[in-house]
Amino acid sequence: MNGENTRSKPLSRKDFLRYMALIAGGTITAGQYIACSSKKDKYAHITGRINGASAATGHRLREGGFPPPEETTHIHTVIAGSGAAGLAAGRKLRLQGIPFKILDLEPRPGGNAASGENTWSSYPLGAHYLPLPNLQNGDLLELLREAGILTGYDTAGLPIYNETDLCFDPEERLFIRGRWQEGLVPQWGVDADSLSTIQRFLAAMDYFRWVKGSDLRYAFDIPVACSSADPQFTQLDDISMKTWLQQEGYHSEELQWYLDYCCRDDYGADTSTVSAWAGIHYFAGRKGKAANAGPSQVLTWPHGNGRLIQHLLQFSQDALLTNSLVYQVTPAGDKVHVDYFDVIRQTTCRIIADHCILATPHFVSCRLLPALQPANGFVYSPWLVANITLDHIPASSGYPLSWDNVVYKGRSLGYVNSQQQTLLQRKPEKQVISWYLPLDHLPPTDSRRYALSLDHTHWVKLITDDLELAHKDIHRLIRNIEVQVWGHGMIRPQPGFITGVALKQAQNSGYDNIFLAHSDLSGISIFEEAFFQGNKAATQVISRS
Ligand SMILES: Cc1cc2nc3c(=O)[nH]c(=O)nc-3n(C[C@H](O)[C@H](O)[C@H](O)COP(=O)(O)OP(=O)(O)OC[C@H]3O[C@@H](n4cnc5c(N)ncnc54)[C@H](O)[C@@H]3O)c2cc1C
Repeated sequence: MNGENTRSKPLSRKDFLRYMALIAGGTITAGQYIACSSKKDKYAHITGRINGASAATGHRLREGGFPPPEETTHIHTVIAGSGAAGLAAGRKLRLQGIPFKILDLEPRPGGNAASGENTWSSYPLGAHYLPLPNLQNGDLLELLREAGILTGYDTAGLPIYNETDLCFDPEERLFIRGRWQEGLVPQWGVDADSLSTIQRFLAAMDYFRWVKGSDLRYAFDIPVACSSADPQFTQLDDISMKTWLQQEGYHSEELQWYLDYCCRDDYGADTSTVSAWAGIHYFAGRKGKAANAGPSQVLTWPHGNGRLIQHLLQFSQDALLTNSLVYQVTPAGDKVHVDYFDVIRQTTCRIIADHCILATPHFVSCRLLPALQPANGFVYSPWLVANITLDHIPASSGYPLSWDNVVYKGRSLGYVNSQQQTLLQRKPEKQVISWYLPLDHLPPTDSRRYALSLDHTHWVKLITDDLELAHKDIHRLIRNIEVQVWGHGMIRPQPGFITGVALKQAQNSGYDNIFLAHSDLSGISIFEEAFFQGNKAATQVISRS
C-alpha cells in the first residue's frame, strides 16, 4: 500500500531513464528504453505481471468519502491487518477462546510475509527466512514446536529442528571477481589487510552478541524490547552505522560492501542510512542455537515465511475477512466502532467491538485513529521482489548454485533458489528463483513513486540485466517474471529512531480498549518482532477480558 500521492505530477521519459539508470548502476539509452517499452528488445518473450500490494484500494483511505455504514455487527475483538502480527494476535486470542474478526484490505492474508505459487513451485512474495530463534524467545520456540518445525530438545536443552525446515546445503555463495565463492563474506581475491579487518569486525560482533548492560539485559536482543537500556549501547542509535565503522577504524572496501549488503537486506537501506545500533543488532541480536544446526543456519521453505503464515492462519481462518479495508476506528465509551469497506460488495460495514487491535503499519493506524500522533519519523523502505521462472540456472565457475546467491557490488541483493527446499525426486521442469531489490536509490517517497510507475517491461529489463552480471545470456532461459512492489516494505531504523520519542509515543493508543500491534513498533522489521507485537497486544486484550 502506498501512502503518498503518486499521481500528482506525471513522470517524463527522462525521469524514467534517470531512475532506471540509477537502479542499473549504469546508463540506459533512449533507444533501449523505447525498445523495452514497445517489447522489441531481446527480453520481449518474457511474460508476467506487476502484482504489488493493493495500492488502489489503499489509496481510498487517503481519499475518504465513505458513505455511512450500511450494516452493523458485534464481536468481542476486531484485529485490523492479517500480517504476521495480526495473525499472531488471532492465534493467542483463539487459544484463550476469545471471539474475534480479522480484517485485511488484501485478497490474501500474510502481509509482506505472504507467498504465491505457479505450476513449478511456491515462492515468497516478501519474507523468506527465519534465523534460529534465541533460546530466551520462549513464545517463538513454542510456535515452532506447535508447527512441527521444532521437533524436541536434546539433553543440553538445545532445540532440534526438522531437517527439512533447515536451509539445505549449499547455503550461500557470492559472485566476486568473475567466480562464485562459498559464503557471503568476501574472501576471493581479498588482500590480507582486508581479511584481518573483516575478522576484527566479526570478533567485535561476537562481543556485542553476548555483552550485557548495567541492567543485566543483553545489549542487543530479539525482541528489541528485551535489549538493554544501558546508554553505553543505546547511544549507538545516535549515529549512522557508517560513521561508527569509520570511528572504529574499519577501513576495508569488501567489509563496507558486505555491511551495506546486510543493512539493505534487513532494513532496505545501507550503512549510511541506518543507525549503528540497528547495524550491530543485525549481527548481535541473533543468538540462536540448535542441537542439529550451526548458529548461522536459517529456517526456510519454498514459500518462505509463508510457511509460518500458513500455520498462524489455522487459528484465524474462520474469522478472516479479506478485501476489507478498515477506514475508521472510533472509540465509543467502553466500545470501539471499526468501520470497513467491503471491496467486493462495495459496501461499508461497522463492527462494534469491546476491543480493537490495530495490526496495520503505523502510518495507516494514524489515519484510522486520528487521535494517534502523526507518524512523523516513521520512514519506510520500498522493496521489489521478482519471482522468476526459467528453464534452468546456467552453471558458472566456482561454487555451485546455492539457496542464496549474491553478486558482489550488484545493485540487487541477488536471488534465492526457492526450490532448493523442495523434496522432489526429479528436478522440476522449470526453476523458480526469487530476486530481491531494496529500492534505496532515491529518498523513499520518490522511489515509491517511480517504482510504482514503471511498466512490467522496464522491470524485466532491469531484473534480467542484473542477472546477466553473473549469468551471461540468462535472458534466453527466462520465461516469466512476476513482480511484487512493496511501497512501504519495511520500517527504516534511521539514527535516533529506535531510541527516539516518536517510537515511544507510538506504543500506546491512548485508549484502554485499543491496542497497537505491528512490527513497525519495534523499529525493525522481522518476523520475530511482528510475532512479539501481536502477542503483546493480544495479552493486553486477554488481561481485560
Ligand atoms: C521484501 C521483504 C522481505 C522480507 N524478508 C524478511 C525475511 O526474510 N525474514 C523476516 O523475518 N522478515 C522479513 N521481512 C519483514 C517481515 O516480512 C515483516 O517484519 C513481517 O512480516 C511484518 O508483519 P506485520 O504483521 O508487522 O506487518 P505487515 O506484513 O505489514 O502486515 C500488515 C497488514 O495490514 C494490512 N492492512 C494495511 N492497511 C489496512 C487497512 N486499512 N485495512 C485492513 N488491512 C490493512 C496489510 O494488507 C497487511 O496484510 C521482509 C519484508 C519485506 C518487505
